[in-house]
Amino acid sequence: MSIMQCGRAHLGRSATNENGLELSAELIESNWDQITDSFDNMDLKAELLRGVYAYGFERPSAIQQRAIMPIITGRDCIAQAQSGTGKTATFSISILQRIDTTVKKTQALILAPTRELAQQIQKVVIALGDYLNVECHACVGGTAVREDMAKLNEGPHVVVGTPGRVFDMINRGALRTDGVKMFCLDEADEMLSTGFKDSIYDIFQLLPADTQVVLLSATMPTDVLEVTKKFMRDPIRILVKQDQLTLEGIRQFYIAVDKEEWKLDTLCDLYETVTITQAVIFCSTRRKVDWLTQKLHEREFTVSAMHGEMDQAQREVIMKEFRSGSSRVLIATDLLARGIDVQQVSLVINYDLPASKENYIHRIGRGGRFGRKGVAINFVTTDDLKMLREIEQFYNTHVDEMPMNVADLI
Ligand code: ADP
Repeated sequence: MSIMQCGRAHLGRSATNENGLELSAELIESNWDQITDSFDNMDLKAELLRGVYAYGFERPSAIQQRAIMPIITGRDCIAQAQSGTGKTATFSISILQRIDTTVKKTQALILAPTRELAQQIQKVVIALGDYLNVECHACVGGTAVREDMAKLNEGPHVVVGTPGRVFDMINRGALRTDGVKMFCLDEADEMLSTGFKDSIYDIFQLLPADTQVVLLSATMPTDVLEVTKKFMRDPIRILVKQDQLTLEGIRQFYIAVDKEEWKLDTLCDLYETVTITQAVIFCSTRRKVDWLTQKLHEREFTVSAMHGEMDQAQREVIMKEFRSGSSRVLIATDLLARGIDVQQVSLVINYDLPASKENYIHRIGRGGRFGRKGVAINFVTTDDLKMLREIEQFYNTHVDEMPMNVADLI
């Protein structure tokens, strides 16, 4: 198939509509140029279509217009699109269309890098499949093994999990893979990076040979694309170029704090702004998250915290409070950099800059979901200036000094 290159021109802000639908009309560069611009024309099962509309979707987003149809035909697919433009629904709708709910077997396996993301995806699958009687189980670490095994023994149609627990469940014979026809990796570049790669391959070996593979992410470095050649067959690629990736609706700023010691006072000065809606504050380590949380509590600011060392029950409570809006400021590690969708988040603060350039775009993408307005503020010490310039260069974007009226932009 020839590579069809769509236009490369950058779209101005004016081209971004409220829900991001027009966002990538000209940004996507792919080997697939077919578009289906209404859910009605996707030939979906009536109960699925009903679920999609009942969930509140009216029109498919750019990635949904392009990727759902080919995935439904069973083709392998790599789909890259900006954060918050509806990738989860892209694979969820495709899976729900492809599975046969009259057969009590696991037919689709989705893997995600964090428990929180796996559980979020499970909720989306269940909601979209509300009229299909679909069973979807979240198979994640930190939960009771025996309960997990019992649920999997019932043969839920869709399983969404984290790699370690899923592999364990397959080995114990609780998760049977003979009926699996779709394998989806959300945040695919993270899943195929060093920490996870081996367990992904191990799981992949245990799936039927003709399993369809679908990869999704907002970032897809070339070395990862290279790796995909090993296990994907003639995939459809729907890709956005790196320098076209910065989110149109997210204004990015920096504050020159000079020294690390001045970050805390700077954050306290910003607290009122931070609580206008909801915000996520990213720190580089778990210890730093704990430290900053404690410091803010000492000064009587209300914040909650989240990182991978907390036990699962606690993690679930924190996420629930943040999703419901009862907690408004969440301090977190990169555990929350990817995928988490809380529509009210309009401000992301990088208290520390991320260690990887990829995670910069994932982090700031927690705000400005589905074309909403968003603001990202980077705390930059003198030592960080170089990294900030590198980020600007990598994404071909500008990060301006934070203006006085930043509150008006949120
Ligand atoms: P991504 O995985 O690309 O980061 P998500 O799938 O989490 O993005 O979607 C971001 C938000 O946009 C979610 O709150 C989702 O419900 C919403 N959304 C997705 N597709 C549509 C659509 N077609 N119409 C309206 N809202 C949508």
